[in-house]
Amino acid sequence: MAVPKLELRPLGNTGLKLSSVGFGASPLGSVFGPVSESDAVASVREAFRLGINFFDTSPYYGGTLSEKMLGKGLKALGVPRNEYIVSTKCGRYREGFDFSAERVTKSIVESLERLQLDYVDILQCHDIEFGSLDQVVNETIPALQKLKEAGKIRFIGITGLPLEIFTYVLDRVPPGTVDVILSYCHYSINDSTLEDLLPYLKNKGVGVISASPLAMGLLTELGPPDWHPASPELKSGCQAAAVYCKEKGKNISKLAMQYSLSNKDISSVLVGMNSVKQVEENVAAATELALFGKDLETLSEIEAILKPVKNQTWPSGIQRS
Ligand code: NAD
Repeated sequence: MAVPKLELRPLGNTGLKLSSVGFGASPLGSVFGPVSESDAVASVREAFRLGINFFDTSPYYGGTLSEKMLGKGLKALGVPRNEYIVSTKCGRYREGFDFSAERVTKSIVESLERLQLDYVDILQCHDIEFGSLDQVVNETIPALQKLKEAGKIRFIGITGLPLEIFTYVLDRVPPGTVDVILSYCHYSINDSTLEDLLPYLKNKGVGVISASPLAMGLLTELGPPDWHPASPELKSGCQAAAVYCKEKGKNISKLAMQYSLSNKDISSVLVGMNSVKQVEENVAAATELALFGKDLETLSEIEAILKPVKNQTWPSGIQRS
């Protein structure tokens, strides 16, 4: 049987086509444990070879380390720049948050240098719930528009955890100003609340990237890193689900990838990867989904285990009311 190619999906009105599995480069900043430069470069190479064309990073991940590692990996590909799509972020740094026009304008210059690129395809305001949303609307996004005109970035995005930040900003900027949103931990087996926002985003022509299909490690056999913000109940619910899968000879991460990939209104499912093995497993999850569909039986058993914690999230950012 021929192995299907990784699907490309349109990203809102941008004209970009993103691979359904996107490469989240935060692990290249050693945020989930140390990663060698050779593993980082090999992971990027394998991802591109298997059809992943979308790579996401931020100056925040590993205090700029992720951008540097991704830059090395992309350079080593030795392919024309238009064959891959890169997004990075601005406004969140190891030192703290700064969404001022001055900082984000300087930030992209620094990011491009670390990434060894002339432009990025998408620049996203990173975790805007930690800043003033009105500043993002009135100052940060206009500054990013100037960067667009200057050719340093092609498209503008916003990211964060609470879903209401997206409607707050999108309701206040001129149509077509924000091209993309990146939501995380809201379209996984344990939390699918992003679904309710998808018709609104589609109506506005805004592209949707959904990150953290493995709920930042909750839906893995290894479990989450120490810094994971989930409650003890959510952690133990996910652990019980992972153990159940393992005992049944199934892999929780594969099921979780397939769950997130099934919704085609999501352009790319951004999964963090730091080894060739993980890249191969996550691409295989997409390929097997295309060939055989979801494992509905195991999925419904897992959903039953996770029912008591379904859609449970955690606070993030400035508490506004
Ligand atoms: P994730 O849910 O993708 O989980 C990543 C963890 O799972 C890492 O420890 C990784 O090594 C591991 N993993 C990956 N594939 C695996 C497999 N097949 N089997 C077992 N373990 C596996 O969480 P994430 O990395 O936080 O999110 C993905 C990406 O999305 C990030 O790298 C980042 O680029 C982006 N992101 C952005 C924001 C934001 O903008 N605010 C927030 C979260 C994530």
